Amino acid sequence: MKAEIIAVGTELLLGQIVNTNAQFLSVELATLGIDVYFQSVVGDNMTRLQESIQLASQRADIVLLTGGIGPTQDDLTKDALAALLGRKLHIDRLAMDHVAKFFAKRDVHMTENNRRQALVIDGSTPLANATGLAVGNALSHEGKYYIILPGPPKEMAPMFQEQAKPWLLQHALTDEMPIYSKMLKFAGIGESLLEDRLLDLIQNQSDPTIAPYAKEGEVTVRISTKAPSEQEAMNKLHELEKQIQSLLSEHMYANGDITIEKAIVDLMTDQGMTLSAAESCTGGLLMERITSVPGSATVFEGGIVCYSNQMKEKLLNVPHDLLEGDDAPGAVSAEVAQVLAEQVRMITDTDFGLAITGVAGPAYSERKPVGLVYIAIAERDKKTEVFELNLIGNRETIRVRTVKSLLYRLWRTIMQSDKLQTR
Ligand code: ATP
Repeated sequence: MKAEIIAVGTELLLGQIVNTNAQFLSVELATLGIDVYFQSVVGDNMTRLQESIQLASQRADIVLLTGGIGPTQDDLTKDALAALLGRKLHIDRLAMDHVAKFFAKRDVHMTENNRRQALVIDGSTPLANATGLAVGNALSHEGKYYIILPGPPKEMAPMFQEQAKPWLLQHALTDEMPIYSKMLKFAGIGESLLEDRLLDLIQNQSDPTIAPYAKEGEVTVRISTKAPSEQEAMNKLHELEKQIQSLLSEHMYANGDITIEKAIVDLMTDQGMTLSAAESCTGGLLMERITSVPGSATVFEGGIVCYSNQMKEKLLNVPHDLLEGDDAPGAVSAEVAQVLAEQVRMITDTDFGLAITGVAGPAYSERKPVGLVYIAIAERDKKTEVFELNLIGNRETIRVRTVKSLLYRLWRTIMQSDKLQTR
């Protein structure tokens, strides 16, 4: 099944609003296993609107229209489709009651043009508008399916979920097998390298399908298949997941849609492990991400933002001669990162102590380049690991990438810990 989405509204063409409806509907249709090959935007103009509908119905089985169903003369969507199909419009009684009640309740006079919001195309199924006034429509005509939805996203989304989707499942998708998906999450690797490592699998695999995409610095791979039952689908997906994991075990941190900090908190809770942190250039960003995970209190003891050299010395006992002096390595150094991680771990008596010190920019510091960052992981009874990062980007990007990098390193360290290895 192929679908095409037409967003109606001159404001969209003028760039005054962004077409989020098309994005929402595309995601929804993909989960139903429906392919969307085209999306289009057309203004409030009868001729061009009809041209768009005609074109869409030549190349798709389902045409979804959003917008242009309000009370005014430029709301043309239902008139355009009705005329094109040679059908008439009539007032739907329930939809009219809904509109009339809205005005009566507010004691506001209902102008005549508001009746337009209760119009439906003859022979269509009205789609009630639970969060607004204009009624939607669903109909089939000569083997094609048409769905008309309101423009405002807060009306369109619930109408699609609660009414149009069940209608499509009942009328258009009766022979289609449901689609099942699983999200695999990766860190410490970019989208292109990940795709390269999976290239053979991607090229030789048509069912399940493999779709990698990058979002906010993490890579997600969605694997999907159609099957008559969930059990059959999950068996197929599990096989593929095992193959992907064997190729990328050092990067795949979850087989569900969760963040890496959530994966870390879950792992540490399981193992009864605890954590603390000392942050310089990230000013608490790492601790913010960890504590945003519900349940992080069982693993995260606390931490220190030690921005100045004085605070590094005073609160975390960094020796003065590491920080200052001609031969000192300076605050942004592997040596200081190591002391910060070890000290914060000792002071808080936790299993892991994390540290970050670096130059986030825009100006260089200690004659060190912007983007030079040291991160350290001190583990109880283990040698402290220190990593040098050379990041590119502006201040914000450098801070965010530093935190991501440390979270990835921490996840790997935990996965390699004795407790997990002997499981
Ligand atoms: P109304 O009853 O408000 O006239 P309508 O169904 O006729 O609703 P439009 O008039 O086309 O819809 O759009 C109303 C508002 O909905 C727009 O001003 C805009 O804020 C939002 N909207 C419309 N189309 C989209 C879209 N494709 N993506 C995101 N928002 C949209």
